[in-house]
Amino acid sequence: MRIDILHGDITTRPVDVIVNAANSSLLGGGGVDGAIHRAAGPELLEACRGLRRSELPGGLPVGAAVATAGFRLPARWVVHTVGPNRHAGQTDPALLASCFGKSLKAATGLGARSIAFPAISAGIYGWDARQVAEVAFDAVRSFWSSPGAGSGSPLELVEFVLFSEDTTAVFRAAFEASP
Ligand code: ADP
Repeated sequence: MRIDILHGDITTRPVDVIVNAANSSLLGGGGVDGAIHRAAGPELLEACRGLRRSELPGGLPVGAAVATAGFRLPARWVVHTVGPNRHAGQTDPALLASCFGKSLKAATGLGARSIAFPAISAGIYGWDARQVAEVAFDAVRSFWSSPGAGSGSPLELVEFVLFSEDTTAVFRAAFEASP
């Protein structure tokens, strides 16, 4: 399993799964969520509305993940996860770790071999990018070392796709410094 850190737009990535930093409503938002909905087309919003009507009437909880098709994206699937919102007092790193862990689990369930993550919660939700990077790398490693999860996963590639040069540099430095 390889970890790559890239500067770019996650909606262009030719991977099996891209992860969306969604909000609980699943009905679209700004930032990476808006970009993913624009690139995937209106079918994605329809699929999200379908989830709200069926299994998620109250929305997607913080730290949880759910998959839809990718529609017009190069990626085959989108895994939507809701990061903790620091401005709403959600400061527990375990919630953020859960976003990464549950997304990896969902991708594994789909049979995905590659997945791309944005810097979940590092935008509108106000988390420090360095902390997001540290939690992310830790969560990927613990996914891999957990029995029955990582060992049985077809995932070979985990990308972190960062939208700004600054965030890319922060992720690279955190990766170098991580155990
Ligand atoms: P959150 O609400 O979880 O903080 P945001 O979408 O506001 O989510 O921001 C998360 C991160 O995604 C930020 O670092 C933001 O710059 C980045 N981002 C925005 N658009 C894109 C994109 N097209 N590809 C990758 N990352 C993006």
